[in-house]
Amino acid sequence: MVKCDAGFDRISEAAKAAEAAVKPTFDRIDRVEAANTKRTLAAFAEYKISTSHLNGTTGYGYGDMGRDTLEQVYARVYGSQSALVRIQIVSGTHAISTALFGVLRPGDRVLCVTGKPYDTILPAIGEGGKKGEGSLRDFGISFDYMDFCDPLNTGEIKQTLSDKKYRMVYIQRSRGYTLRRSLQSGEISALCAEIREKFPETITFVDNCYGEFVNESEPCADLLAGSLIKNAGGGICPCGGYIAGNTELVEQCAARLFSVGPGREVGPSLGYNRELYTGLFLAPHVTAQNLKVAVFAAQLMSDLGYGVNPAAGAPRGDIVQLLELGSPANLTRFCAGIQAASPVDSYVTPEAWDMPGYDCKVIMAAGGFISGSSTEISADAPLREPYAVWLQGGLTYQSGKLAVINAARALQES
Ligand SMILES: *Cc1c(COP(=O)(O)O)cnc(C)c1O
Repeated sequence: MVKCDAGFDRISEAAKAAEAAVKPTFDRIDRVEAANTKRTLAAFAEYKISTSHLNGTTGYGYGDMGRDTLEQVYARVYGSQSALVRIQIVSGTHAISTALFGVLRPGDRVLCVTGKPYDTILPAIGEGGKKGEGSLRDFGISFDYMDFCDPLNTGEIKQTLSDKKYRMVYIQRSRGYTLRRSLQSGEISALCAEIREKFPETITFVDNCYGEFVNESEPCADLLAGSLIKNAGGGICPCGGYIAGNTELVEQCAARLFSVGPGREVGPSLGYNRELYTGLFLAPHVTAQNLKVAVFAAQLMSDLGYGVNPAAGAPRGDIVQLLELGSPANLTRFCAGIQAASPVDSYVTPEAWDMPGYDCKVIMAAGGFISGSSTEISADAPLREPYAVWLQGGLTYQSGKLAVINAARALQES
């Protein structure tokens, strides 16, 4: 249960001090939110969004004006030529996989420059899955990996692209559940500009999951993909994903998502246009709330003597906060503390389980309104060295802060 007493305990004092210490970082987050809100509102105005756009279609979804205009608004906000924003894209993995299958052709090679991609993408590439399931590898498309290099080693990347012909450079913005840092939008845009200049035939692709609205603009790449139940959906979209980028590439993705021919003309928005518009409108704000929760958690936990990454005031390119808690018991206590302060399923005690794709048990806290949404407060911790929990989300700063304080208290009670 959340302990609401404003009692004079060590954690509430530390929380007050932590909040005061991060004030300059919060001010920075507010400025990014203001810039992103301004850009979003301007796009709504430019496309004259009206009540009629909030209605949807059924069946094939032909002539879905709300959907088609939303995609133009998205393209404007993301700084791209075109976008595909659909509830038929069920996850970030589906968006990324659709983008890869959409634009790559047999014989193409892909160079990942940020280490191995996020776990759930690996089977689609053909890593670890069974032969013949229809992965990219089955279609004769191969992947090479370069280790994540901090800062990005542009020279080495360009050298590798000169040595061998690559159709695509794959960049993952978020740290995902690794120990590397996230990339800021500007760093990715700079790399993509260099690649575009020297290798104009090479597509720059960004897995933008967890990164949307964290910086003042989105990465300027040929193609971006992400999930609407993370930052991009503002905590409102019940499902969905997006792909944004150059028109020709986005159309290829639509052909892959639906069918060659009908392409983006089909795909009913059903009753969801209102949520998709509201979600985009709220996304800059909710992402700012997510960031404040992460920054507060970093400051508080570091003040309490735990390892944190990134540091509270460090530059960020995603909403993920890593906290090193030192022992499996602490991970369990922390996740229980987060769960107990969640709006849904607060009475549930999270238990470690053998999650597919992991070589150890994983414990998670998730008590959101939308199943699996990680723009809502959530925590994931594999029970292995360095005994770290990955924390993200928080629809409102105040609720996220309470959850972090509750989790910190749970650690103290050990
Ligand atoms: C979450 C995530 C994905 C996959 O998204 P799902 O919606 O969970 O399928 C891919 N890449 C990164 C970096 C992510 O954070």
